[in-house]
Amino acid sequence: MLSNLVFSTTYQCPISCRYCGAECGPRETARLSLQDMITIVDHVFSYGKLELVVFTGGEPFLLGEDLRRCVEYCAKKGLLTRIVTNGFWAKNPQTAREIMKTYKESGLTEINFSCDDYHQEFIPLERIKYANDACLELGFPALIGHKTMKGCTLSIDYLEQFLEVKLARFDPREKNPDNNVVSTGYTVPVAKDMHLIPDDEILYPPSDYHWKAPCSSILQRVIITPRKELSICCGMIPRGVKEIVFGSLDDYTLEELITMAHNDLIVNWLALEGPYGLMKFILLKDSTIPFRKQYVNICHLCSEILTRKDCRKILSEHAHEKALEISLERCLYDYMRTKEFKEATVLTESTPL
Ligand code: SF4
Ligand code: SF4
Repeated sequence: MLSNLVFSTTYQCPISCRYCGAECGPRETARLSLQDMITIVDHVFSYGKLELVVFTGGEPFLLGEDLRRCVEYCAKKGLLTRIVTNGFWAKNPQTAREIMKTYKESGLTEINFSCDDYHQEFIPLERIKYANDACLELGFPALIGHKTMKGCTLSIDYLEQFLEVKLARFDPREKNPDNNVVSTGYTVPVAKDMHLIPDDEILYPPSDYHWKAPCSSILQRVIITPRKELSICCGMIPRGVKEIVFGSLDDYTLEELITMAHNDLIVNWLALEGPYGLMKFILLKDSTIPFRKQYVNICHLCSEILTRKDCRKILSEHAHEKALEISLERCLYDYMRTKEFKEATVLTESTPL
């Protein structure tokens, strides 16, 4: 958990994508200050495990010079840094080149451009091309974060033609090639009221595994919201959902917040059984509660469960009945992990060089 620090730097964004789970937009004002970010970087760094700092949003470039200075600060500590942006700032080739050059010189190690039909309702695709071209020219690692949906215009083929590059598929197990990498997935309708979208408008993956698995990203990173709260989910659930956000660093220490998250019933339930486990429990209590036949992924189901009144009612009345079982599952999980770790260590130590 302590090797990755994610700053959701601001809720402000120059655009308002319809599927924005974080509900960001031009009218939002909450943001982290440079001093907040530096203090938190120092704090997490002091544990001795921090490797990567991610700046996301909203739109992190709206932080202006504070963003660049924080990237530079992290780079001086030897940390990897990644910015996730919609590329609105790449208004022409020259501006794109100047900005990317400045960030390269400040020590940024990777940039991700969000690019799909929803983002490009607001941001001309030319800007992604200018930014991507600038990265190519500077030999700077860039990834295009793409989402596909029913009847989408911006397919990977279309993007390759428009950007005039061949895009390699991102493989999280491998080191990124320098640029022209694309990570693609299904559009997840998680924003407020998007669970009202009819099934036939959603593109589903072929396998059920995508929505029946445990949540593997929960408790894996330190995620800080623009209001200096610790969050356990990086933006796929509307931010008013209290189960995903713990207290603010103005009121608690980071250690207290991490401990709260690790002891939380719903957090552990999601990590061990996934939203599918919650859905099964809800149906056990009331089999008339409607669910879709399938979901795009775990976050799609998770967002529905944690935002729908009928599901929340069951959880608030009955979740405590699951506490002992989840606590035992967690003990077993921790025991197995420690056992595997010890066995791996013994193996490594006893293997002759
Ligand atoms: S999805 Fe990204 S670019 Fe779109 S409104 Fe949300 S934060 Fe802004
Ligand atoms: S399953 Fe839920 S908690 Fe986990 S990443 Fe998705 S939305 Fe967040």
